[in-house]
Amino acid sequence: TEIKVWKEFDKSRLYMADLESGLHFLLRVELATHRALEGAELKTFKDFVTVSAKLFPGRQPVVKLLETLQEWLVSLPLDKIPYDAILDLVNNKMRISGIFLPRKIQWVGCQGSRPELRGYSCSLWKLFHTLTVQAALRPKALINTGLEDNPQIVLQVMRRYIQHFFGCKACAQHFEEMAKESMDSVSSSDQAVLWLWEKHNVVNNRLAGDLTEDPKFPKVQWPTPDICPACHEEIKGLHSWNKDQVLQFLKSHYGSENILYKYTE
Ligand code: FAD
Repeated sequence: TEIKVWKEFDKSRLYMADLESGLHFLLRVELATHRALEGAELKTFKDFVTVSAKLFPGRQPVVKLLETLQEWLVSLPLDKIPYDAILDLVNNKMRISGIFLPRKIQWVGCQGSRPELRGYSCSLWKLFHTLTVQAALRPKALINTGLEDNPQIVLQVMRRYIQHFFGCKACAQHFEEMAKESMDSVSSSDQAVLWLWEKHNVVNNRLAGDLTEDPKFPKVQWPTPDICPACHEEIKGLHSWNKDQVLQFLKSHYGSENILYKYTE
């Protein structure tokens, strides 16, 4: 068995290693459980790749990979794509041209105290928070993709991705219920950032004390006062969120300036 050395990290920062490892897992592991993509699944994957290609605040080779994947998916006249063809593009054609996505999983801010805890599901949250924030910071990024002018687009892509591909089926069902209830009311990209934050806290609340909780990373209402004191207020002795401050905090926490490249190859 492999002995994992604990990596020190700063919980107020975002680590590119987590985002890239998440993308790696999504493309090479989660997607691999589907032999071919067609219909709604194919459309979902295409939209996911488009949104990521335009909004992922990543390193040049990774963004280039996403862009190439997007152009390839758009240009293909097929209504069914074998997974092997996608994998081939992600692995081989790319390596040659120096366009690549690291193959190693390196959880940093998403490390768990046991291997079955945290990791991918943590990175998927971080990835989608990052994409909602980028959509809010860069309103013109999706122009000419057919996905522009839709403040819910990142949330809708996430909703469909979770529905069709996320390995945890119970999670997908819970998320779908929340989406059905209130995603429609989101009418700006700032509201989309806050919607995902709020729903993630609902999930945190539901999972606090659950078997899936990492004892080293208890589920809390996030951001905690130590990383965002201004996010918290007390009104007549009751806790309440200052949503303007939360939005500002999310934009900086999930913004490019807060990303650390430590532990990336
Ligand atoms: P995570 O909840 O994964 O959070 C990752 C990081 O995001 C945190 O470390 C923190 O830095 C940041 N963060 C935390 N809260 C917020 C917030 N409100 N807004 C912005 N950033 C935040 N597991 C189940 O057992 N049952 C479920 O029903 C379930 N549903 C899920 C639905 C979705 C869509 C996803 C992606 C995952 C779901 N999971 C579910 C997995 C679960 O939410 C956690 O991802 C997993 O338990 C690992 O927890 P974690 O401690 O790494 O923190």
